[in-house]
Amino acid sequence: VRLQSMQVSAYDLAVIGGGVIGLACAWRLAQDGAAVAVIDPAPGQGASYAAAGMLAPVTEIHSGEEAVLRLGLEAAERYPAFVAELEQSSGSAVGYRACGTLTVALDAGDSAVLDDVADLQRRLGLRVQALTGREGRRLEPLLAPGIRSAALVEGDHQVDGRCLTAALQVAAERAGAVVVRRSAAAVTTRADRVTGVRLDDGTELATGAVVLAAGARCGDLDGVPGEALPPVRPVKGQVLRLRVPPAYRPFLSRTVRGTVRGFPVYLVPREDGELVVGATQEEQGYDETVTAGAVYQLLRDAHALVPALTELPLVESTARLRPGSPDNAPVVGPTALDGLVAATGHHRNGILLADVTARAVAALVRDGVLPPEMAPFAAHRFQTRAMTEGALR
Ligand SMILES: Cc1cc2nc3c(=O)[nH]c(=O)nc-3n(C[C@H](O)[C@H](O)[C@H](O)COP(=O)(O)OP(=O)(O)OC[C@H]3O[C@@H](n4cnc5c(N)ncnc54)[C@H](O)[C@@H]3O)c2cc1C
Repeated sequence: VRLQSMQVSAYDLAVIGGGVIGLACAWRLAQDGAAVAVIDPAPGQGASYAAAGMLAPVTEIHSGEEAVLRLGLEAAERYPAFVAELEQSSGSAVGYRACGTLTVALDAGDSAVLDDVADLQRRLGLRVQALTGREGRRLEPLLAPGIRSAALVEGDHQVDGRCLTAALQVAAERAGAVVVRRSAAAVTTRADRVTGVRLDDGTELATGAVVLAAGARCGDLDGVPGEALPPVRPVKGQVLRLRVPPAYRPFLSRTVRGTVRGFPVYLVPREDGELVVGATQEEQGYDETVTAGAVYQLLRDAHALVPALTELPLVESTARLRPGSPDNAPVVGPTALDGLVAATGHHRNGILLADVTARAVAALVRDGVLPPEMAPFAAHRFQTRAMTEGALR
């Protein structure tokens, strides 16, 4: 996918999908001087629209996902510089808050789980502070009186995902990228190489390479051989937005998370008074309906952590589909189809990983190789596995 080896075409690159990942890629590629088209009928309205915007590699750790942790830590460290550059380039704020994250335990069982996670975090050299319930309530006075213990991760921050996506679109356009508000129906090829994209109205865009960043719908494209399509599945997330009236602020000063009857729940307070309460994680295919059961469960569980929540206006309920890969890690880089680059599979961490992904895609286009931090997430890891499994069968 080197630029210099591309055919002369209307665009050097087409990015299919204008979510946080596609727009971030388009911005970095356009900054490198490429002529870029972003194809999306509704940019910013996919999973990126739902995201709570937590930048939480340490709190999100699950054992066995150490490679994702390392990538997330690197992304989190670079985030302030990324935000500063993006705000400068777009002229708009993205709501970055270095507020920290407090995970709370309601009972002895939760408390034991919290201790285990804190042990793992410390073993990996991560910074986490164990607190008693009382210390937790001193930090967040609206926490339920029964909170048993808590863990504070000062380094896990947040950003407003909608502002971020909008700013990325402005920055990408200012850098020369063109947003085409149509669906991509197919990738066109000649002699096993990408030649362009056919839109849903039949128009064909000639392009030297295609970045596939269509989120949960990456598998939905004609013209691409099956083995080149990134193996992503839709993972439904339902999330609520409440508003904290000025008289009640700050309400919460940092992100609060916990597990209630086995269900994880979080509350993310924005500077502007928005309070995001999320999120379900459901394997329901392409279903994007908001269900009464999910709204009930999210409010019930958030109420168990912060009882005063029921006083707040509920302003929005949203369901969107996260792009999940078989190992729930990103899928980035060259695919089995020459000229097709995958940039997807970010599952629960696409906001956090947007810039680190975009830089990797830009480096790939520039230098022909993925940078080392992205190597564990190369798209061909699944093709290799599929080929090996095929050979063994
Ligand atoms: C409830 C919820 C909470 C989340 N919270 C967080 C969080 O706190 N922190 C975090 O880092 N991440 C979070 N995430 C995950 C994050 O939102 C995703 O990882 C990220 O948005 C993925 O971005 P994307 O650009 O790949 O996909 P999307 O945002 O879904 O964008 C894909 C785009 O592709 C377009 N598209 C699809 N098919 C086509 C086609 N054929 N032609 C043209 N365009 C097409 C769609 O219109 C869409 O705009 C959350 C997700 C959910 C659902």
